[in-house]
Amino acid sequence: MPKYEAVIGLETHIQLNTKSKIFCGCKADSWGDPPNTNICPVCTGLPGVLPVLNRVVVEKAVLLAAAMHADSILSLSYFARKNYFYPDLPKGYQISQYDEPLARDGTFNLPMPDGSSRQVKITKLHIEEDAGKTVYQSGSRLIDFNRCGVPLVEMVTGPDLRSADEAAQYLIRLRQLLRWLGISEGDMEKGQLRCDANVSIRPAGSEVLNTKTEIKNINSIENVRAAIQVEIERQIREVDAGRKIESWTLNWDDDSGTLRKMRVKETEADYRYFREPDLLPIRLGEAWRDDILANLPELPLERRVRFVDQYGLPLYDAEILTEERSLSEYFEQAVSTYGGEPKVVSNWLMNDVLRMIRELGVKAGELRLQPEHLAEIIHLVEGKGITTNTGKALLDRVEESGRSPAEIVEEEGLAQVSDEDTLRALVSEILEKNPEQVATYQAGKTTVIGWFVGQVMRETRGKANPQVVQTILEELLSDR
Ligand code: ZN
Ligand code: MN
Repeated sequence: MPKYEAVIGLETHIQLNTKSKIFCGCKADSWGDPPNTNICPVCTGLPGVLPVLNRVVVEKAVLLAAAMHADSILSLSYFARKNYFYPDLPKGYQISQYDEPLARDGTFNLPMPDGSSRQVKITKLHIEEDAGKTVYQSGSRLIDFNRCGVPLVEMVTGPDLRSADEAAQYLIRLRQLLRWLGISEGDMEKGQLRCDANVSIRPAGSEVLNTKTEIKNINSIENVRAAIQVEIERQIREVDAGRKIESWTLNWDDDSGTLRKMRVKETEADYRYFREPDLLPIRLGEAWRDDILANLPELPLERRVRFVDQYGLPLYDAEILTEERSLSEYFEQAVSTYGGEPKVVSNWLMNDVLRMIRELGVKAGELRLQPEHLAEIIHLVEGKGITTNTGKALLDRVEESGRSPAEIVEEEGLAQVSDEDTLRALVSEILEKNPEQVATYQAGKTTVIGWFVGQVMRETRGKANPQVVQTILEELLSDR
């Protein structure tokens, strides 16, 4: 038994992929745009302007809350001003939510390596605007307001994670879910998913919550894992040496892989929260809520379980096929067109189609190779119309040309050669030309038959039916 266990809670900020910002019509996604090009009087906080709420922000946030099985998605929630002074926050406050957030008390089902799942509590989920970005450049401070007013969801977990690996796993699964719901790409390198981690330790098995530290500014999942691990080890050293953990805010330094102590953290009182007077509360009526929830898809973990139950797939296959939503839909369509054993479709997808998807850098739903095409190719192979190798090559040919497999087979004469007379003539010819290998065979080294099959395949450019070739070879060789 280890002496200590870690207690970790994560606070994530998720950038929603709306077209426009949360309170104005400016373009929301500024990635790669020149500084200060997507701004207006509203998001730069000029005097006399008024914010107008983007309806889609609420819809995407409600979808996420529902996916968190939030017990209470409030039908009435309020915006609040979070006051603090920072150069990249031109209004002097951030419009956020505070005492009545969009949703509370959710649960994130985190799958564990053994196939079970851990329930991670989501204490609070609210929407808010992003601040700008300060860039330090040769001794000056430059401010880019493009990010001001970009819609964010802030989501806070309970202290429910127990290791750096679990924290990383949480982010991997959260990112999968965001993409699945189509509400964010969740790319940490682009700041679409940001994470602060609260870390403390306690004697293993204990229920106390000790003083925690907060790690800020971690910009990749790997760094979240590394930073938390470094901090757990530091706290263990401190406690073992008889020292107390102090409530620090730590900054992860990517280059050196170390944590540095930052400013003393503001307390909630420092923010002087009050209700935002320029915005009405969000009224989520029943009709609107039902409309939004009509778009809530089956979630990845539920689909994974169903794939095992309904299609008899191994958990391993089900896991891979539900990694991404359109891949899981592709699989189901292909199975329904194919009509045979689902595992066969799974094998083709996992071995060949996934390779293609990775090489092309697209989602399954974006392939020109439709699920119907895949089913057709499997049928052609199983019906001995084409060889397996031709079938695999066909996947690429259909993807390149967008034409149907049958069309390509017909036009390019790819049909499998099973005609015995044709193959018999070819085999005889090859035996004539290779007396040495024939002698080897007759001397008892029968494995040389594989070499002969290879020769026939070369001559027919892979189209000969290998079983027929094998039978003819055995027959002609033993006749000699
Ligand atoms: Zn604007
Ligand atoms: Mn926040």
